[in-house]
Amino acid sequence: LVRLRAKLARSQSSLGKGLLALLSRDKLDEEAWEDIETTLITADVGVTPTQELVERLRTRVRVEGVSGEQARAILREELITLVDPTLDRSLKVDRKDGKPAVVMVVGVNGTGKTTTVGKLARVLVAEDKHVVLGAADTFRAAAADQLQTWGERVGVRTVRGPEGGDPASIAFDAVKQGIDESADVVLVDTAGRLHTKIGLMDELGKVKRVIEKTAEVDEVLLVIDATTGQNGLTQARVFAEVINVTGLVLTKLDGTAKGGIVIAVQRELGVPVKLVGLGEGADDLAPFEAEQFVDALLD
Ligand code: GDP
Repeated sequence: LVRLRAKLARSQSSLGKGLLALLSRDKLDEEAWEDIETTLITADVGVTPTQELVERLRTRVRVEGVSGEQARAILREELITLVDPTLDRSLKVDRKDGKPAVVMVVGVNGTGKTTTVGKLARVLVAEDKHVVLGAADTFRAAAADQLQTWGERVGVRTVRGPEGGDPASIAFDAVKQGIDESADVVLVDTAGRLHTKIGLMDELGKVKRVIEKTAEVDEVLLVIDATTGQNGLTQARVFAEVINVTGLVLTKLDGTAKGGIVIAVQRELGVPVKLVGLGEGADDLAPFEAEQFVDALLD
């Protein structure tokens, strides 16, 4: 976790340093506040949250008459409030009613879905959970192979179907396998082709309905690539409209200084960020914590 934090801090340092440099100016005049606003918007925090944050900062700096270190503390507090430490970010991965928990992982192709399923399997196995993977991304030819490779690495079974097979029936088989093996968790990778909203809705809806013939879907994790900024946000919105998303996974945070996207996506979708991806390696997945994240931003 310390290593992950260092990694995050490195990629985010430009935002934190920029803000702190601005806040420690001798005179916080109109121009300084505009620069602070620009810095936040450039970091993908989003226009409305930025305006709210700057407004609160300005008021507090004026009312409390603070400067330097104190301004930094206020910035930290206000950022934490924006990220919202009160949200429930726990993963629902416990067996229930004698059945495995089922987690569907959804998102646009290339965002890091399959990788996230692999990393998450590893985290769960490390917690002594018995995991089964379902390769229901039958759209991308190599996805099932890629998932199976992760499965072998982590030591869990991957249920897959014939190439171009029906994603819903693979998901069904994976859950059935999970029940037969008394698994704790079944992780289902899905396809994220965004050709039409209706097509996506039909496919993901069907996968979910078919799973629900035998077990409950406990989590629908939406994977978002942090490096795609507003575009990623637009795509995420489409997914949130077609399926009931319970948590967000923000991948590739290691590759961007625009960590503000965390604030924007949560605000926009009304769903907590539960996990962050900080690299391509097996250990590069971390639970998301508001305070830790803001500290890394400001480090
Ligand atoms: P999918 O199409 O959504 O299943 O995406 P993949 O899991 O195949 O990932 C697409 C690419 O993104 C791969 O090259 C991954 O190694 C890479 N990737 C996934 N997550 C991360 C991350 O957190 N950080 C970085 N730097 N790369 C990632």
